Amino acid sequence: MSLRFDAINNLNNGKEVKVAGSKKITAIFGENVFTHQVARDFLSGEAYKSLMNSIKAGQKIDRTMGSQIAMGIRSWAESKDVTHFTHWFQPLTGTTAEKHDSFFTLKSDGSALETFDADALIQQEPDASSFPSGGLRATFEARGYTAWDPSSPPFVIEMSGGKTLCIPTIFVSYTGHSLDYKAPLLKALESLDKAAVEVCNYFDKNVSKVTATLGWEQEYFVIDEALHNARPDLVLCGRTLYGHSSAKGQQLEDHYFGAIPERVYAFMRDYEEEAYKLGIPLRTRHNEVAPSQFECAPIFEECNLAVDHNTLLMDVMSRVAIRHKLKVLLHEKPFAQINGSGKHNNWSMQTDTGINLLAPGRTPKTNLMFLTFFVNTIKAVNDYSDIMRASIASAQNDHRLGANEAPPAIISVFIGRYLNKVLQDVKERVGDNFDEQDESLLKIDIHKSIPELLMDNTDRNRTSPFAFTGNKFEFRAVGSSASCANAMTTINSIMAETLKKFKKEVDALVEKGEKKEIAILHVIREYIVASEKILFEGDGYSEEWAQEAEKRGLDNIKTTPTALDAMVTDKAKQLFSDNNVYTHAELEARHEIELEKYIKKVQIESRLMGEIATSQILPPSIRYQNLLAKNIMGLKNLGIEQSAYANQHQILQKISEHINNLSDLVEQMIESRKKCNAIADTREKAIAYGTEVKDKFFDQVRYHADKLELLVDDKEWYLPKYREMLFLR
Ligand code: ADP
Ligand code: MG
Repeated sequence: MSLRFDAINNLNNGKEVKVAGSKKITAIFGENVFTHQVARDFLSGEAYKSLMNSIKAGQKIDRTMGSQIAMGIRSWAESKDVTHFTHWFQPLTGTTAEKHDSFFTLKSDGSALETFDADALIQQEPDASSFPSGGLRATFEARGYTAWDPSSPPFVIEMSGGKTLCIPTIFVSYTGHSLDYKAPLLKALESLDKAAVEVCNYFDKNVSKVTATLGWEQEYFVIDEALHNARPDLVLCGRTLYGHSSAKGQQLEDHYFGAIPERVYAFMRDYEEEAYKLGIPLRTRHNEVAPSQFECAPIFEECNLAVDHNTLLMDVMSRVAIRHKLKVLLHEKPFAQINGSGKHNNWSMQTDTGINLLAPGRTPKTNLMFLTFFVNTIKAVNDYSDIMRASIASAQNDHRLGANEAPPAIISVFIGRYLNKVLQDVKERVGDNFDEQDESLLKIDIHKSIPELLMDNTDRNRTSPFAFTGNKFEFRAVGSSASCANAMTTINSIMAETLKKFKKEVDALVEKGEKKEIAILHVIREYIVASEKILFEGDGYSEEWAQEAEKRGLDNIKTTPTALDAMVTDKAKQLFSDNNVYTHAELEARHEIELEKYIKKVQIESRLMGEIATSQILPPSIRYQNLLAKNIMGLKNLGIEQSAYANQHQILQKISEHINNLSDLVEQMIESRKKCNAIADTREKAIAYGTEVKDKFFDQVRYHADKLELLVDDKEWYLPKYREMLFLR
């Protein structure tokens, strides 16, 4: 029997996993985290202070304090029966990496000893040679090291009864070039902090730190593990390369409003509990539009921590699913003809005085501050939309952007009718004539009306890639399997840069004798005028928008290899080096890595497409073709009139055509791949893989295979069908 029928037959055998009765969240929240409270309990006063200074003010931890902190962390971990530790980091493969070491070591006399010293905490040397480096290590130095990030707390992962202490770290080459997602993010956050504090100080001298905040929304599919395992495409690529759409798909939208299926519900409760223990503040869960699609979202947190938590949660979900004999699909487009998955990134900035800088205030002063940060964000996106587009580019996300279910590939900003009017008012009232300016400008009535916006979220636009939603912006174009880090590094960098320019321009006016508030309003006005083309309130899915955007000179780049160009322009290099986020060499390296990832993804999919066609689709099709042929021959031999088996003839005809076409196309695709492989330039090769392999063949090859799926005897078909994966539980 085929794996497909094994999976279907076993669907209900022993799959119910008992989940312990719900514990109160507050009783378990953060129980596996070295929280500030735990730090206080396990560290000396001095060591605790040193750790806090490092977290809050970025101060260096010296060696003595380092060993004290390491000892404290170890005794905490041992109190939880932890035996191993690892530096946990986020290499550019897009997953997480760990190398487990035991606390256990041998003394020179051969007796056993448990250790974990400052060195083990602060710095490690994983074998870096197999992580992507985009040529950085070849150019510079062959080794890399991981270094502790004190701002993200250590945590304990429980797996198969074993427990491992994980230390969040950055991953850099020996020459100091970053090889991960965390190091540049931390630098971008630092740059934003500095730039934003300076601008805040126009309004409030008490602000001394600004942190970016992030609340992500994670979409995912859940399907039965055995059905998943019978699909080599899901196993190797995370998406189905074949499969006719199910007669029932998402058209009834009954899944969105439906109750969460019981098996999935048990899984959710289980992973949520793990997440709570790890301090991930999940708050919402619900069904999504497509069958078997779901979403979860936490309470927002400081950006770096939120990125770690999202990365960690993706791991936790995948691991817990296995306990339930389920499989989580984080891919952006696991199923054709059905909505894909995204990861909305809700982003804002918060001061150490407790003010959300994107929340309209209650007084004229705080409202001017809101307006300043609000308009600077719009200006940042306006000036750097190409870099934002590049930050979310991937082979997987190409299936989704612009597919009338996710935001278009055109970056624009939605702010709602009300705030549009506010910006228009400012534009008109302030005017561009300086001489006529006076104090009356300061009475611009922005303070009375803006707060109403918070109540009025009704005109939210779901088709916008970057939307203001009352007290934060929501970057909706991020892919579901992507780390939030890339998008967040970009947003925080472009915001830092824009705020720095803003400050320079305001200061220049003040130096000329302008009153500070007037100067601020003037620069705001200038930014509003300069950014008008990026604002769009209409339907982002419509053809009219694509045309209108072109007229406005906005990019509409649909594929990853060309979208990535924006990473290595002079503009990008200047932006990232001025903000100390990436050196030119690092940008070039990342660009290369992203292109290579794209090539490999398409290459693997293409190879597997060929293999599945010849080894799993053609065999049952040819068997069925034979059966029909024999049947026709038999009828003919019996002297039965041809008109009596005309239908069999027709089916045989169709099947034969599809078989022929499918095997022809697979051969042609292989030839095309060979040509692409011969291209030396990485960018050219990526573009060729996109047009000459993916665009030219994937849909066509699939077309014939999917037709065969409809024609061939169901019991002969090897691959689980869409209706089974999406609706059987
Ligand atoms: P929805 O967008 O589904 O209506 P919410 O508006 O409550 O839901 O929030 C969506 C996400 O935005 C949540 O993860 C939430 O924590 C996050 N969020 C809310 N406020 C902020 C903020 N100031 N900064 C960053 N994220 C935020
Ligand atoms: Mg949302």
